[in-house]
Parts: sequence; C-alpha cells; structure tokens
Amino acid sequence: PSELGELVTSHMREIPDFPTLGVLFRDISPLFAAGEDFARFIRMLAAHYRGRIDAIAGLESRGFPLAAPLAVELGLPMIMIRKAGKLPGPVLREDYELEYATASMEIQPFTVAEDQRVLIVDDVLATGGTANASINLIERSGGIAQEFLVLMELTDLGGRARLPERVACQALLTL
Ligand code: IMP
Repeated sequence: PSELGELVTSHMREIPDFPTLGVLFRDISPLFAAGEDFARFIRMLAAHYRGRIDAIAGLESRGFPLAAPLAVELGLPMIMIRKAGKLPGPVLREDYELEYATASMEIQPFTVAEDQRVLIVDDVLATGGTANASINLIERSGGIAQEFLVLMELTDLGGRARLPERVACQALLTL
C-alpha cells in the first residue's frame, strides 16, 4: 500500500551515529506526533487488516503505539511482547543473539487465545532476531503468527530471510 509507505517516508528521521558510532538510526517518532496524519495512517492499516486477523501484538516499545490504536480501531485484543523482566509472571521467554550480546523478549501467554490469528507489529525489521523471537512467543502461547508488519525494513541486514516461511512479512517502506 504505497500511500502508507509515503506517510512513513514523510514522517521519519534518519540519525547518523545513534545509538553508537556507525549506525544510521531510523526514527518513527514524528509519525506518532503527526496528529491527523497518524490517525489516517491507523485507519488505512485497519481497513487493510479488517476481518483477516483476531488480535494484534506490539513489540516494546515502538510497536505499542502502533498496535494499540489499531486494536481499538478494529475492536480486537492487543497483546504486549516486552523486553525481559518487565512483565509479571507467568511469562514465556525467548533469548536471541545480537552482534555482541544476547537479548530476551517475554509474553504473558494467557493474553493469547488458542488458534488466534495474530498480527505482530514493530517499527523496524533489521537482523530479524526480535521478529523471530516474537513469532516463537506467539506460537508457544497457542496463537497463529499470521503476519509480521513493520514500517521500515533494512534490507541489507537480511532479516526477512531469517523469518519462517509460514509467516507473511509486510514492510511499508524498504531502506
Ligand atoms: P532486529 O532484531 O535486529 O531485527 O532489530 C529490530 C529491533 O531493533 C526492533 O525492535 C527495532 O525497534 C530495533 N531497531 C533496530 N534498528 C533500528 C532503527 O534504525 N530504528 C529504530 N529501531 C531499530
């Protein structure tokens, strides 16, 4: 949907050397602050997904302001997937490798219904580690990871190829 891609393009910033030297950080905060443009963005996404999913999972933290208004617009449940140690138990946990460290994401499995078709949402797909962890968490909780939606995909980092083939991956903008 190219109008969605244009809204992402016109409301994102590129910041060199953040958070560390040599990294070009893509910042979607301007979209969240765009008022009517953000509302229109959410309504267009809702129109696209209406009837095709049963719940929406947001990845901490920039997935939350995407997943929550989309869930409200569609009248669907919203699921939080958070960095480890933030959610009270019982939780399921997935560990994954970063370049120089490991990261962990957690979910409260009772927030996912059996065979629920879940759309997972985040701002950026980079190496795919976070995406994979979130897909595993939804599936281990009994849900179906129907689709992974990101606003921006950093194609050089090859994340898409690391996702399981059964999960569709939608990027509104490729960089
Ligand atoms: P991955 O696990 O390497 O695919 O990294 C994706 C995760 O890191 C997502 O949760 C993103 O929010 C975050 N991330 C990676 N690169 C960027 C960026 O340039 N801008 C904003 N978030 C990023």
